[in-house]
Amino acid sequence: MAGSKALPGVLRWNLGDLTVTALNDGWFQGSLDLVTGIDKAEAGRLQVAGFRTEQPKITLNAFLITGAGRKPVLVDTGYGALAPAETLGRLGTALATTGVKPEDVETVLLTHLHPDHCGGLAADGKAVYPNAEIVVHADEAAHWLPDEALAKAPAEAKEYFEGARNAVAPYKGRMRDHRGGEVLPGIEAVPLPGHTPGHCGFRISSGSQSLLMWTDVVHIPAIQFKNPEAGVGFDVDGDQARQTRKRIMDEVASERTFIAGSHLEFPAFGYVDRDGAGYSFVPALWVGGE
Ligand SMILES: [Zn+2]
Repeated sequence: MAGSKALPGVLRWNLGDLTVTALNDGWFQGSLDLVTGIDKAEAGRLQVAGFRTEQPKITLNAFLITGAGRKPVLVDTGYGALAPAETLGRLGTALATTGVKPEDVETVLLTHLHPDHCGGLAADGKAVYPNAEIVVHADEAAHWLPDEALAKAPAEAKEYFEGARNAVAPYKGRMRDHRGGEVLPGIEAVPLPGHTPGHCGFRISSGSQSLLMWTDVVHIPAIQFKNPEAGVGFDVDGDQARQTRKRIMDEVASERTFIAGSHLEFPAFGYVDRDGAGYSFVPALWVGGE
C-alpha cells in the first residue's frame, strides 16, 4: 500500500513437490466488541493471558501455490482496493517478491467473498489477475452476488454485497462454482459453513504430505483456540460457525493435521493441540531449505 515502509511478509513452505507461500496482506486493529459467544471480560483476559494486547489486532494472509509443473494458484487476494486501513492491502507487494506476476496466475481459489479475501481481485473495475479463472462455492456466490441478494440486504450490510459484486465483476465468464470436492488436481475444497454460507477451506496434497487451509475458522487466535465457543461479529451464522469451528478443531487435533489459516499469525502454518478444555496452536518448524 502506498506509503507503507513495511517489508513484505512472505514465507515459502515446501509441501511435497509444491511450494505454498504465505503472503501477508497486513493487519487491522480489532476490538473485543467483535467477539461473540463468550463474555467480553473473559475474551480480554484470554488476550492478555496469551501475550496479546487486550484489544485484538487481526492479521490477514493469502497463499500462493506453485510448483510441480503447474501454473500459479492464488488462494484469496487480500483486501486490495477495499482496504479500510493503511496497514492492509500489501499482498501485491508480497506477491511481487515471489517473481509471480499477476498475469501468471491461472486460478484464484476464493475461500469466501468477504472483502479481506476477494477485495484484491479488481482495481478500478479491471481484473488484477487478467488471465485467471476464479473458483468459489456455489452457496457463496448465491449469497452475495444476485441482484435480489443486494436488494434484500440490510442497509448496514450492503457495502459487503457491493464489494463482493464489484470484486468478481471483471471475471464474467471466468468464474466457476463448486460444491466441495476436488477443484484442481491435488486441491480439494472443504466446506466449512457458518462464517459465511459457502465458506470453504482447501486441502492441498502432494506426495505423502497435505495441508488444510482452514481460512476463517479462527480470527483471534489467543481467544478462539482457548475457547472455541467464541465467534466474531462478521460470522453470517454464528451458531453454525461455532459448530463448524468445534468440529474441525476436534478433527485436526485428533488427526494431527498440518493447517494454515487466513487469520492465524504470520506465517500461519502449524498444528492444533488439545489444551485443557480448549486448544492451543503450535507453529510448525520453519527451516530455510536443505
Ligand atoms: Zn477473513
